[in-house]
Amino acid sequence: MNRNITLKAFTLSAFKIKEADRLLHLLTKEHGLITAYAGGAARPKSRLVACSTPFTLNEFELYTHKGRYSVKNADVIYAFAGIREDFDKLSEASRLAQVFEDATRFESGDTDLFELFGYALYALADRDWPQLHAALAALRLLAAIGLAPFIGRCVTCQAALTAPYAFSFQASGTLCKTHRRDIYDLMPLNENLAALLRHAVSAPLPRLFTVQVPHGLGIDMIEWIWHYLEYQLEKAYPGLLMPEALDISTKGNDTVEI
Ligand SMILES: [Zn+2]
Repeated sequence: MNRNITLKAFTLSAFKIKEADRLLHLLTKEHGLITAYAGGAARPKSRLVACSTPFTLNEFELYTHKGRYSVKNADVIYAFAGIREDFDKLSEASRLAQVFEDATRFESGDTDLFELFGYALYALADRDWPQLHAALAALRLLAAIGLAPFIGRCVTCQAALTAPYAFSFQASGTLCKTHRRDIYDLMPLNENLAALLRHAVSAPLPRLFTVQVPHGLGIDMIEWIWHYLEYQLEKAYPGLLMPEALDISTKGNDTVEI
């Protein structure tokens, strides 16, 4: 059925196709991740340039036909300008958007990834530790799709444990002495880090990013979460910026080296 719909969406990434068009990956509340065709959006004077910019929240007027979407019009609701003024913020937002694009494939439909991404962008734009906030959002995202780490009880027998725990990335949880046997990737997990990971998994969204974290603990948490996430999703997220996604145009025949 052909119809026009209006919805709010975060632009996660934009890819140039043909001469002057773009494909947008949009995170919506109603339909999860969708791909929308934005005709002419790669022309500098197109009215669709602003909504094609990654990490913006827009109200889109879309035309749908046979499950495909094309953009008729769009208005920027919030641009999150602070993210694009800082390389680290932009890099972390890119990394997080890639994780959201991958993770939404696992989503059952009863989680609110749209709201989480919004809170994460506000935190990245307005706060000054983007690596910490991207990691908090990434672990919360994993929890939302059923991949939270199991901490505090044995993942095999449910026996209650006390810190410091022995955590296995392969088993996705802490293990009792009996079930540690034959596990070869055990890592110690102290109570402070365990408490922070619990916060990331279960704090109410308005409080998720306002947590005060000592520097050393934050560094440990960031490293732990990305290791865990890459293990769970079986993919590396190095946080490299994709020139296309950031709309860096090349002049003449120059190439952009990553
Ligand atoms: Zn056990």
